[in-house]
Amino acid sequence: AGCTLSLKVEGQNPTGSFKDRGSAVGISHAVSAGREWVGTVSHGNMALSTSAYAASAGLECAVFVPADTPAERLERIARHDPRVFRVEGDYGKLYSKTLSLEADAGCVNSDTPLRFAGQKTVAYEIFERLRPAVPDAIVLPVSSGGQASAVWKAVRELDRAGLIDAVPRLYFVQAAPCDPVATAYREDRRE
Ligand SMILES: *Cc1c(COP(=O)(O)O)cnc(C)c1O
Repeated sequence: AGCTLSLKVEGQNPTGSFKDRGSAVGISHAVSAGREWVGTVSHGNMALSTSAYAASAGLECAVFVPADTPAERLERIARHDPRVFRVEGDYGKLYSKTLSLEADAGCVNSDTPLRFAGQKTVAYEIFERLRPAVPDAIVLPVSSGGQASAVWKAVRELDRAGLIDAVPRLYFVQAAPCDPVATAYREDRRE
């Protein structure tokens, strides 16, 4: 490709995805805030990570999944014994509903502040590893954009603190069957 390409392997985190970084902070906070349970909306890595970290901290975990989540996924999530609620209807609406639950009920979704805080460590590790060089670009897989937002927040904070000499471009990659952010960007929409 005519450039130096570095890959960051996140599959070796305890439950196999970058979600564990955010779960570590989000769930530690839930424990210190005296909560008895946490929740999340997901049918994949987020549910797996949140329920595993909740189990390790002795918290109850509620996982809201779309009703059509395949059984093999549910089986993986069920290993950590969360309470699984299968919800009919619109996934986006379900997601925004649980965001409003965050403050009083402890949902640790992909774009809640404490998950962001943990996921910023992806960026810290990239800069720490490559310094004093700064990558020209960071390319991220994006669904809701939580991880990308966390990385961008970390980049801006490092820049503002004078710890990096240049700001990399951020590239978002979305799979074609589910690409609302890419579509909105192409159509120049703000939402
Ligand atoms: C969660 C996840 C994503 C999407 O992350 P968002 O924060 O929702 O944008 C992409 N890739 C993998 C492997 C994931 O686990």
